[in-house]
Amino acid sequence: MEKIVIVGAGVAGVNAATKLVDNGYPGELITIIDMGKDPYQRKPEEVMTGFLGAGGWSDGKLTYHTAIGGQLSKYCGEEKAMELMDQVITNFKRFHPKPEEVQCSNPEAEPDFIKPYFGLRLFPVWHVGTDYLSEIAKNWYDYLVSKGVKFIWETKVINIDFKGEYVDLDNTLEPLSYDELIFAVGKSGIDFAQELANQYQLPDEPKSVQIGVRFESPQKHFQKLIDISYDFKLYRKFEDKGVSLRSFCTNNNAAYVAVEETYGDHSYNGHAKKDMRYRNDMTNFGILMEINGIEDPFAWSREVVNKLQFSGTGLYYSPSRVPSTTSEGNNVSAYQIENLKGVEHVMGEYWTYIMDFIEDMKKVFPTLEDDWGIYIPEVKYLSPEPLVNYEDLSLTKYNNVHFVGDALSARGITVSGAQAIYVSEALLGEYKKHLYLMDQGTGDIF
Ligand SMILES: Cc1cc2nc3c(=O)[nH]c(=O)nc-3n(C[C@H](O)[C@H](O)[C@H](O)COP(=O)(O)OP(=O)(O)OC[C@H]3O[C@@H](n4cnc5c(N)ncnc54)[C@H](O)[C@@H]3O)c2cc1C
Repeated sequence: MEKIVIVGAGVAGVNAATKLVDNGYPGELITIIDMGKDPYQRKPEEVMTGFLGAGGWSDGKLTYHTAIGGQLSKYCGEEKAMELMDQVITNFKRFHPKPEEVQCSNPEAEPDFIKPYFGLRLFPVWHVGTDYLSEIAKNWYDYLVSKGVKFIWETKVINIDFKGEYVDLDNTLEPLSYDELIFAVGKSGIDFAQELANQYQLPDEPKSVQIGVRFESPQKHFQKLIDISYDFKLYRKFEDKGVSLRSFCTNNNAAYVAVEETYGDHSYNGHAKKDMRYRNDMTNFGILMEINGIEDPFAWSREVVNKLQFSGTGLYYSPSRVPSTTSEGNNVSAYQIENLKGVEHVMGEYWTYIMDFIEDMKKVFPTLEDDWGIYIPEVKYLSPEPLVNYEDLSLTKYNNVHFVGDALSARGITVSGAQAIYVSEALLGEYKKHLYLMDQGTGDIF
């Protein structure tokens, strides 16, 4: 019989095991290793590790759309993706002490005043409730233990031998062998994933560039839209050019621009304070371009970001304003430029897309006029995504090693869980074939 080892008891690992045992896979053949603690021991300050991983103390919002939360439909198609997401949501309800309280927020239709210029993405979201996550985790854990699944807690996997098919643990010399491995280490294991990718020279999926600016203005200009959707997502696509733009991560009410330092350069992001003492009635959001077809997107982005620095910091441009202050009252670090010629020079034709986006916002939100500013640049360096076989998310070089969740290409709970269930379905297919052959008296023991 196949021994399955799951590295990471996060959202993905737990959903994978649940799918397997729900369908008769013997729990005794499944081992889950996690560097964190079981849900009875895990403390709130252990944000990233332990049962349900980063999902364990998350906001408990389960997004329900294939355009958000990372990659899913590219592997399995739209219809299957929605069905897999349904399974994840059902799992959260099933172990919820009050499942009737899990509600889906229903977005309204796209408002007419946006339509001529932008699309507006509105996503259904299921709200599990942060307060219930700990109880959900305990119920879920008890179920898996009752099915015979073996958990190894507070143990870090420090090496995986893909050829020898075993994992090394940090607290024992005894390696643990596997027939199938589900690699579900989430964001907290991203460095480990990168080490393995380097060690085994795993090929990557081609990635896009994600670059743009952080836009800021008084909130009043956008209020009409904020009333419909707090974190609105305006978007537009230029299919033939391989470019799409979206507003990203909108902050309102007590909204501040934050400086990020990556590879020694400054770029911008935003955040909103919950405490209304910090209210400044500002709105900020990224205007991010996704650019496909650039040969080395990482090197390209780094070079552009580096050229958009002056005097040890990023740039700020506004036809009428000055940079804002942080919530602590300090100036946001940015060098104010008089015109955009230099930026245009560095970003070339891509700069036009950003300016057109702003010009069209001025039409949709007529009071905006010149009452805005942009912090340049905002950038997302996408981590490399190992190339997998789309039918079971196994590495193209090692087909009994399956990458899932944030360690592959997910960016949220629903997609992470869905990818994991997808892998388990593939493994169950093999398991059922085996049972059938055994029944016919022709099967080999795995
Ligand atoms: C504060 C916060 C709030 C969030 N809110 C939301 C939200 O509302 N909605 C949403 O969709 N997403 C949210 N997210 C993101 C979401 O939690 C993750 O996308 C999701 O948990 C990813 O699932 P995963 O199983 O891939 O990884 P994780 O859930 O992160 O699990 C990975 C597990 O692997 C273990 N691990 C890592 N490396 C090793 C190793 N070497 N050896 C052993 N164990 C290892 C870790 O201990 C961890 O338990 C939030 C994240 C955070 C941090």
